[in-house]
Amino acid sequence: MASPSTHKDKKNASVEKDKLFFTYLPGFAEFILKNKLEEYSREQLKYSFEEEVPLMKFLAHLSEDELLALAIEGSREFLTVLAENRSREYIEKSSADFIKNRINIIEREQVVAEDITIVSFIRRKTLRKLLTSYSNDWEEFMHVMEEVDRFVAESETSSFNAFIKIQQENIARINSALEQRQEDLLEAQELADLGSFLWDMKHGNSVFTPGVMKIFELEEKSNLEAFMTDVHEDDRDMLKKALQKALEKDGLYECEYRLVKNGNEKMIWSRGIVQFEDGKAISMKGTVMDVTGKYSLLAQLQESEKANKLAQSLTHMGTWVWDITTNRISWSDEMYRIYGLEPQSEITFDRYISMIHPDDRDRRLSEIKESLKTGEVKDYLIHIVTPAGITKVLKGKGELKRDKKNAPLTLNCTCQDITLEYKLNQELQEKEEYLQAKTLLLEKLNLSLEVKNNELSRINKELESFNYIASHDLQEPLRKIQTFIQLILEKSKNKLPSGTMEYFNKIMTSSSRMKLLIEDLLMFSQTTANEDNFELSDLNHLLDEVKIILSTLIEEKKAVIESRDLPTLRVIPFQIQQLLLNLISNAIKYSKENTIPRIKISSRVVTGDQIGDSGAIAGKDYFELQVKDNGIGFDEENSERIFGLFQRLHNKDKYSGTGIGLAICKKIVHNHNGFIKARSEVGKGSVFYVYLPRTDKKTSYLVN
Ligand code: ADP
Repeated sequence: MASPSTHKDKKNASVEKDKLFFTYLPGFAEFILKNKLEEYSREQLKYSFEEEVPLMKFLAHLSEDELLALAIEGSREFLTVLAENRSREYIEKSSADFIKNRINIIEREQVVAEDITIVSFIRRKTLRKLLTSYSNDWEEFMHVMEEVDRFVAESETSSFNAFIKIQQENIARINSALEQRQEDLLEAQELADLGSFLWDMKHGNSVFTPGVMKIFELEEKSNLEAFMTDVHEDDRDMLKKALQKALEKDGLYECEYRLVKNGNEKMIWSRGIVQFEDGKAISMKGTVMDVTGKYSLLAQLQESEKANKLAQSLTHMGTWVWDITTNRISWSDEMYRIYGLEPQSEITFDRYISMIHPDDRDRRLSEIKESLKTGEVKDYLIHIVTPAGITKVLKGKGELKRDKKNAPLTLNCTCQDITLEYKLNQELQEKEEYLQAKTLLLEKLNLSLEVKNNELSRINKELESFNYIASHDLQEPLRKIQTFIQLILEKSKNKLPSGTMEYFNKIMTSSSRMKLLIEDLLMFSQTTANEDNFELSDLNHLLDEVKIILSTLIEEKKAVIESRDLPTLRVIPFQIQQLLLNLISNAIKYSKENTIPRIKISSRVVTGDQIGDSGAIAGKDYFELQVKDNGIGFDEENSERIFGLFQRLHNKDKYSGTGIGLAICKKIVHNHNGFIKARSEVGKGSVFYVYLPRTDKKTSYLVN
C-alpha cells in the first residue's frame, strides 16, 4: 500500500534523482549495447567464475550456451536502462523485486551479502575494461568512470538495504516462531504436568519453568534446592543417590520419588543430563513430571488387563491381531492356552494356518483372502489340532482395520474355544435325530399294529359269526338225530339185538356230548365285549344266582362255598356270572373222592407290581378275585395251557366236559381288560385268580 507523500519525501527524491542522472554513462552504455553486448556478457561470466560468486552454484545446472544467453539477456536489460538514463527506476525496481522475491531463477533467501559486493565489483570491472575500446579522450574516460562508480555504489547500497530488510524480516519471523515455540513448550509442559529446569552449579543459581513451580508448589522466591525437604523421607536417600550418580559418574539422572506437600502425596518423575567442564559437573538440564495421575491410570490399566485376562480364561476367549503390513501376529495369553502352545512363543501366519485341521484349512485361507478383498470379516468356525494332538473347535469374530489410503492394516479377532459346547450340541442333535427316527419307527409300528388289530378284530368277528352260524345250524340236525334215536329206542324196546342197542346208546351219548359242545362253542362265540353291556353289578348277587343254578350239583357233592364281601363293579353282569359259574362248577367237578369240596371266593385290591405278571401294569390298582378249591389239582406247568380251547388235563371218561369253559373265562376277563391266572398242586387243590383293573377308561370299576 502506498503511504501518503509528504513534502519532505518529494525533496529527498529530487536530490537522489539528480545524483542518478548521468551525462556520459548513457552514451557509453549505448555503445556497448550496439557493438559489444556479447563481449560484455562473456567478460561478466568469466569474472563471475574467477571471483567465485556464491550465487553461481545455483546456476550450475545450466549449460555454457544457456548461461551466455542468460547473461546477454540480463546485460541487454541493464545496458538499455543505462542508455536511456533510467538508473533510479532500475535500482528501485531491482530492490523491490529482490524483496518481493521476484528475481528469476533464484530465491531471495539464496542471496548472501557477498553476492552483492562481488556482483558490483564485477560490473565495475567489466565496464572499466570495455571503456578503453570506447574512448581515448582522457577527460571523457574519467567522467564515464566517475559515473560508473556512482551508479555501482548506488545500486550496491540499494541492494544492501534490500538485503538487510530481508534479513530483518527473517529474524523477526524466526523470533516470533521461537516465542511461539517457547509458549507451546510451556503450554505442553503445563498440559503434561511437566516442568524443565537448568541448575547452574558454576554460578550457583537455577532457572526453571512455571511447570516446576506448580509441581513442587513453590513460592515465587523459594529456592529450587529447598524442595528436598518436601521429598518423602523414605525416598530422600534414593533421590540423593540418583543425583550423586549423575554428577559423579555418567551424567545421566533419572529418579521417581514421592513428594509430600500440604499432606498430599504426589509421584514425581524427574530426568536430567549433566554438563561437565574439565571432569567437573557445572550444570544440569532436566525435566520434572507429575505422574500421580498416570500412576493410578497405570494401576487401573493393570487391573483391567488382569480382569480381561481372567475373563478370557473363564470364557476360553482369546484375542489376536494380525499386522498385515509386517505379517506379525500377536496373541493374548488365552490364545496360547487354547492352542496348547508355550506362552508368547512366536506366531507366524504360516504357523497359525498349519495348526488348522486339514479339512478346514483351505476354506479358512479363502475366507481370509475374501476378507482382505472385501474388508468384511465374517464369523468363522474352525477345527484345530494342538501339538498334543487334541482337536478343538474354535469360533471367531473379527474386524479389518484399514489405513487412510484404505489399504488393509490389521485384522483384529476374538477366538473362543467352544469344543465342549459344540460336542454337547452335536450329541444333542444326534439324540434328537435318534429320537425322531425312533418316534417315526414307533409311529409306523403303531400304524401297522392298528392295521393288524383292525384286521384281527375283523377276522375275529368273521370267526364269531362263523362259529355262531355253524353252532346254530348244527344244533338243528343234531336235535333231529337225537329225536329219531329216541323214537327208535322207544319203539323197538328189547327187540333189537344187544349189540345194536349198545351202538344206539353210544350214538345217544355222543350226540348229547356234541350238543353240549355246540352249546359251549355258541357261548364262546357269543362272549363279546360291548360297552352298552357294562352295568354296575354287585358280585355277591351274581354269586347267589350261580349257587342257585348249581344247587343240584352242590347238594349232590355236599360242596361248601364260602365268600366274603365281594365288590360292586361296573361289568358285563351275565359274563361275570358265567365266569363264576365255570370256575365253581370246575371246582366241584375236579374235587377229590371222599372229600367235601370246599370253595373259597374272596376279593382284594392289589397293585400291578404285587401281581408279578407280564400282563399287569406296575403302579396300577387291580381287583383280585380268588376262587380256591381243595380238589385234585393239576400240574402247574399246564397253568396257561388250560385256558386254551379244547384243552383238558384229566381223564375224559371220568370227567365230563368240552375243554371250552376256561377259554370262555379267559375271553370274559379279556373283555373287561383284565387277565386270568391259575396256580395248582396235584392232590392239594387249585386257585384261579381273576384281575380286573380298578380304574379303566372302558370299564371304570368301582369299589363297593
Ligand atoms: P372242561 O370242560 O374239561 O372242564 P375247562 O376248560 O373248564 O374244560 O377246563 C380245562 C381243563 O382244566 C379241565 O379239563 C381240567 O383238566 C382242568 N381244570 C379246570 N378246572 C380245574 C380245577 N378246579 N381243578 C383241577 N383241574 C381243573
